[in-house]
Amino acid sequence: MERLQKVMANYGVASRRKCEKIIEEGRVKVNGVIITEMGIKVSPEDKIEVDGQLISGRPKQKYYLLNKPVGYVTTADDPQGRKTVLDLISKNERVFPVGRLDIMTSGLLLITNDGDLAFKLTHPSFTVEKTYKVTINKDMEEKEVDLLEKGVPLEDGMTAPAKAHKAKSSKGSCEIILTIHEGKNRQVRRMISYFGYKVISLERIKYSFLNLDGVKVGNYRELHREEIAKLY
Ligand code: URA
Repeated sequence: MERLQKVMANYGVASRRKCEKIIEEGRVKVNGVIITEMGIKVSPEDKIEVDGQLISGRPKQKYYLLNKPVGYVTTADDPQGRKTVLDLISKNERVFPVGRLDIMTSGLLLITNDGDLAFKLTHPSFTVEKTYKVTINKDMEEKEVDLLEKGVPLEDGMTAPAKAHKAKSSKGSCEIILTIHEGKNRQVRRMISYFGYKVISLERIKYSFLNLDGVKVGNYRELHREEIAKLY
């Protein structure tokens, strides 16, 4: 017997937390009965329906590494009808992005239907290193690069220690490689604008041990079995 929300997440309905919301909203039936209370356990024989659709068979876990282009939103559905990262995954699968990249950010984004892994990777207690290449509008001073590493006071608190170095610089622009392991909203952009610089472009080039080698912008590849195991 397993908790309903866990089974739903395993079948790729959504992350476990989102599944709890879906249950609360009265959208789930177990053996024909709407369930809204949290924590009920189900067995493999139970018939589970979400929005009237039966979830059945073996869950087929999918794991994609996408090179997100600028101009795509990181949601499954956009009320404003903008292009979403899922439009780039050509198959008709119920997958969702792990975490978020801003519409104007490009780079490495994981897409999966494994709710457990997505929950774990995005949980604040599980610190995944994420590396960004940030191009800004001026040369950054070394003492500011040091502060990026030590901590920047944002309105929701000080950023945790990070790694930062300048990869290229000239008077009119500067490329910084910044590795953080937190996931505050728009964190990199806010860290940079704290010092008064403008972000020209922001690309996530690494997520944990994964990089974008061989995956062109707008393309994706499946993760290998060993990569999935390493992420867990
Ligand atoms: N930090 C940002 O500011 N934006 C992103 O998309 C990712 C990290």
